Amino acid sequence: MSKLVNAERQSVVIVGAGLAGFTVACALAQQGYAGEVTLVGDEPWPPYDRPPLSKQFQLDGDESQVWLAPELPPNVKLQRQRKALAIDPRRQELCLDDGSTLPWDRLVLATGTRPRRLAQLDTLPRVLTLRTLDDARAIREALKSVASLLVIGGGPIGLELAASAAELGRQSTVVEMGPRLMGRSVPAAMADILLEYHRSQGIAIHLGRTVAALDDGAKEAVLDDGQRVPAGLVVVGIGVQANDELAAQAGIACDDGVFVDGWCRTTAPGVFAVGDVTRQRNPVTGRFERIETWANAQGQAQALASILCNPGEARAYDAVPWFWSDQGGARLQCAGALTGEQQAWRVDAAGGRVLVHWSGGRITGVAALNAARDFVQLKKLILPRTTITPEQLSAPAANIRALVQQALVL
Ligand code: FAD
Ligand code: ADP
Repeated sequence: MSKLVNAERQSVVIVGAGLAGFTVACALAQQGYAGEVTLVGDEPWPPYDRPPLSKQFQLDGDESQVWLAPELPPNVKLQRQRKALAIDPRRQELCLDDGSTLPWDRLVLATGTRPRRLAQLDTLPRVLTLRTLDDARAIREALKSVASLLVIGGGPIGLELAASAAELGRQSTVVEMGPRLMGRSVPAAMADILLEYHRSQGIAIHLGRTVAALDDGAKEAVLDDGQRVPAGLVVVGIGVQANDELAAQAGIACDDGVFVDGWCRTTAPGVFAVGDVTRQRNPVTGRFERIETWANAQGQAQALASILCNPGEARAYDAVPWFWSDQGGARLQCAGALTGEQQAWRVDAAGGRVLVHWSGGRITGVAALNAARDFVQLKKLILPRTTITPEQLSAPAANIRALVQQALVL
């Protein structure tokens, strides 16, 4: 790989103007790359942030809080509302939906994911999904004229939205097919606490159930056990699939996600991928996974900018995965892999809780509920060959910050 920094004639084309694509473009400029960067996005808006869309934006509709930056660096050209249709890896060209082609020296795929759908409900007008700003606007608008929201899927996005609707005074119901909430991302013990919290806020939660039919006249849904639940508006939040078709059609290795190594390289020379669309090695589990988090999209994108500017020197990207999810008054933060064979809790004076997992005597994962300070400290102990013990964690008078600092210098 040749050095790219200040190579005036080298062009970087980035497909997807979400957080990952935007961050690559900005970080290239920050690192002194002076060549041409083109950011191609199929949405009509400048780059924006998705996390507020299920949370604060539903409450106040304040769009000023979603834009990622007032302006892009001067050497970045943004082509909005332009869909990339095909990659020609041999000619190093990207074909766009207006019939034009863009030549590239380095191509970055940052195409993200899209919501999975429920085919039997797909054509009904009251059934929406949440991924884009337009989706969020449509949900916010629809919520103004209904008394109830039904969310199908008890993952983080569905629960955040259900909590926002409850705060707005709507009757919120969540129908989750699995035996507990957030099966993909939190341990059962933490999911039970979240369940209790949401129920205490008036949200009806049906576990082990799905929606069999919608009764449009009654504005109700019929569950698979015959129960009827209010459904003025229905939002399907049953997870996402990778927008990896461009890569797959170009013969790049994919499996619901574009495979990348620690240097964000795909299997095609000169083609890189970052963010939600990638399937990358999780340094904690050692498995290739899609890590669908804001922190990963941003961190991997920053790492790619360093890799492109300084290929010989850049380190492989191997950050511990983590995410947050604000569900009404519940701030959940999770890092690493919450699967180790040993677990212990810490409950602080204000009622904040942390659940830590150990495997082979080392911390593999931390889940915190309203305990941001302890989370930030304990997260540092995932991966390093140092630890604190379950007894140290749970001791009522423990100073977690001091314990972690001590462990890190040992
Ligand atoms: P995306 O943000 O999906 O951006 C990809 C962009 O590429 C999109 O604009 C897409 O339209 C475009 N695109 C796709 N195909 C093409 C093409 N062929 N041509 C041109 N453009 C194309 N994470 C957290 O850690 N904490 C949270 O609290 C949190 N809350 C969230 C709330 C919501 C409602 C959502 C939807 C996500 C949330 N996330 C959260 C996840 C986080 O937002 C994502 O991990 C992040 O947006 C991923 O960024 P990305 O750039 O990889 O993908
Ligand atoms: P997201 O990150 O989009 O919130 P997750 O994948 O974390 O999504 O969670 C989606 C949830 O939806 C999972 O808990 C899954 O069990 C649930 N789910 C999937 N299909 C259905 C369905 N047909 N009915 C109800 N719940 C479903």
